[in-house]
Amino acid sequence: MSFSLHGVGVSRGIAIGNAHIIERTELEITEHRISREKISKEIERLRDAVHQAKQNLRNVRSEIPETTAVDIAAFIDTHLLMLEDAAFTFDAERLIRDLECNAEWALKLQRDALAKAFDEMDDPYLRTRKDDVYHVVSQIQRILLNHAPLEHEVAGERLRGSIVLADELTPADSVLMQRHGVVGFITHYGGPTSHMSILARSLGVPGIVGVHGIRKYLSENEPLIIDASDGVVIGDPDDSTLTYYQNKKAAREEHISSLAQLRNAPSVTLDGHPIELHANVDLPEDFYSASEVGAAGVGLYRTEFLYINRTDSPDEQEHFDTYRSLIEALGGLPVTIRTLDLGADKDFDVEMGQQSGANPALGLRAIRLSLREPGLYWPQLRAIIRVSALGPVRLMIPMLSTLDEVRQVVANIRALQKDFSENAIEFDPQMPIGGMIEVPAAAICADSFAQYLDFFSIGTNDLIQYTIAIDRVNDEVNYLYDPLNPAVLRLIAMTLDAGRAASIPVGMCGEMAGDVRYTRLLLGLGLRQFSVHPSSLLELKQVINSTNVEQAQRSARAVLGTRDPDEFKQLIAELI
Ligand code: PEP
Ligand code: MG
Repeated sequence: MSFSLHGVGVSRGIAIGNAHIIERTELEITEHRISREKISKEIERLRDAVHQAKQNLRNVRSEIPETTAVDIAAFIDTHLLMLEDAAFTFDAERLIRDLECNAEWALKLQRDALAKAFDEMDDPYLRTRKDDVYHVVSQIQRILLNHAPLEHEVAGERLRGSIVLADELTPADSVLMQRHGVVGFITHYGGPTSHMSILARSLGVPGIVGVHGIRKYLSENEPLIIDASDGVVIGDPDDSTLTYYQNKKAAREEHISSLAQLRNAPSVTLDGHPIELHANVDLPEDFYSASEVGAAGVGLYRTEFLYINRTDSPDEQEHFDTYRSLIEALGGLPVTIRTLDLGADKDFDVEMGQQSGANPALGLRAIRLSLREPGLYWPQLRAIIRVSALGPVRLMIPMLSTLDEVRQVVANIRALQKDFSENAIEFDPQMPIGGMIEVPAAAICADSFAQYLDFFSIGTNDLIQYTIAIDRVNDEVNYLYDPLNPAVLRLIAMTLDAGRAASIPVGMCGEMAGDVRYTRLLLGLGLRQFSVHPSSLLELKQVINSTNVEQAQRSARAVLGTRDPDEFKQLIAELI
């Protein structure tokens, strides 16, 4: 009999296939004492295993098809870098020497210590790093114990057409799954910001994470359907369910291929309003995806991702080189470089800026941290100002909440520009300076902020969090996270009005901008610039090109005007 399970869909699309379960029982690692004279041999054994693990990963890397998104290789490289990091093996070797123990045990102790440190930080991005450590350590341990590499379980012809079920999966798994024709995956653990989720999106493989208890309900070879758009898993579907999803899948595939032809089409509404569609990029590997989908530019480059996987902070030259490659990848289109947004859920292990306090999202985050730490901030500002000589660059300030912050940043930039002029260093004196509107205080005072800024970008991810007072990374209150909350809509409208009154452009770069359910409403509220993940851009263009703005405006006005919740729901439904 058919039944359904629910989780979080991490890419859109439907997969139909038979279940293939991957059991990864924890390796049994026991402690052995190694006599003093055999210590150097044990260290040698560890080094050989690390070498072999590197070799295995390089083989996986060489299997990545040419056509695959570039960032997949980057994930494998993260594991390779870890294996190549001298400190990684040095610590394990030290443990072997100090404790006179076997290599497997030393690795386990080292892994546990790292995991504990990650756990204490309670940060989703760092938790992803913890998964990397687990994966890399178990690869080496398997080699030491003569087990087959983990990857072999998700590779092979027998997997073609199947849906993989596992407690959790790794980036390397995803490469091999795609290579060997796996059509979808379901995991017990994981969240939408894990590496697996990011990869699933970039590979276009439907996946659902966080389906608790999958092993209890699903068995090997069972026919399955997953609909990642809705986060639904259907087990043992009956004929009519199967036909329904086969048709839905075919319609989606046709829809996706029809979108490709929109790449060069203008983005303009039915009644002739041109709309700018920009791309959000996080990793240098994303730079080319933005131009591939025909984005008008980059509306948000989250530079804090330059800080992941390291304990030092990038210097001015490294910032400069990365921004230059972004400018080159975009070939003359405008790029918006957002200054550091470290802190809260992006608290990387850099030299400074460790988060503190009970409410890190309300603490020393983003521009607050930057202004407190000129040693961290100024090299970045200098790099952005320098790189403005090479192409159209816009500088964007995250998480502004007071006018004073705006004035301080602008003053810092002007001081640096003056210094550059005096030293004959080239830069663009007209470089626009904009601010993110993602705190209610900024939205309410957007008219004041507009006096000092050249553009706004609405960051709905945080604006929703701060307006409704819900932690955006806390599963327990996720049900309250609603972009359609009337308070959020009013703040968006206020920001758009303030931008219009001051004649400065207002864009939106939060996830709400890329969700086509809200496109008509946003157009109706007056939004004319969207910045979204490249994979959402063409679908968004399609909705825009089939919208009549005048009509959307009337409905949006009614949405803002009503105080009747039923009427509100009905008006929203008409706009979707
Ligand atoms: C936002 O808050 O909407 C935003 C785009 O910034 P981030 O998601 O990086 O906080
Ligand atoms: Mg934000």
